[in-house]
Amino acid sequence: MTVKRKHKLTKKQKKQLLLEIVILILATIGAFTLVFWIGRGVAGVISGRQEKKVVQTPPPLDVELLSINKYSRPGVALEKVNGIVIHYTANPGSTAMQNRSYFEGLKDSHETMASSHFIIGLDGEIVQCIPTAEISYASNERNADTISIECCHPDETGAFNEATYDSLVSLTAYLIGKFDLSTEDVIRHYDITQKMCPRYYVEHEDAWEEFLSDVDRYIQENGAVKKDGT
Ligand SMILES: [Zn+2]
Repeated sequence: MTVKRKHKLTKKQKKQLLLEIVILILATIGAFTLVFWIGRGVAGVISGRQEKKVVQTPPPLDVELLSINKYSRPGVALEKVNGIVIHYTANPGSTAMQNRSYFEGLKDSHETMASSHFIIGLDGEIVQCIPTAEISYASNERNADTISIECCHPDETGAFNEATYDSLVSLTAYLIGKFDLSTEDVIRHYDITQKMCPRYYVEHEDAWEEFLSDVDRYIQENGAVKKDGT
């Protein structure tokens, strides 16, 4: 017969153990608090160093404003810009000026109500149709608080060619700075209405994400640190 020996702690040992547990708990809490505050301090220093860069010079613009008319340029003030909406013309091979003429012609044809602040052509040219202080008719319920950019495209896929794409990156980067936005505020027409616009960048989510990264990179490379009050 075996006698099970119980390992009994003495009163003194119990006290010692309890003390050690309390010290361990306090030390753990202390360590977490320290890490937390050091982390915050480091984050503050980093954010202080990473001042916001802003692209201050617009890319070359061909300003060809539409006549004020209720079908394409209502002349209504755009009170606050909260976003930039990217579109495609859905008309392969058409030029920026052809699309601009279509918008202008709506004042006579009354076919529909449509327009865009900017149209970027196949050679990268940027035609401005509406001042950024006014609304355009491009993005449905977001017409009242967004700037719209239509992009021309060579074929049915809706992919932008390199010239159009590069101008879109620089124009978007400039508008982000002008209206104190970020790439989080750059959206597709699709994100508002689920319309397949701009088609290629709805069908290829990775291409859209890459575009936003390219805009961020452009700002870092071409922007200047924005000083307070400027
Ligand atoms: Zn659209």
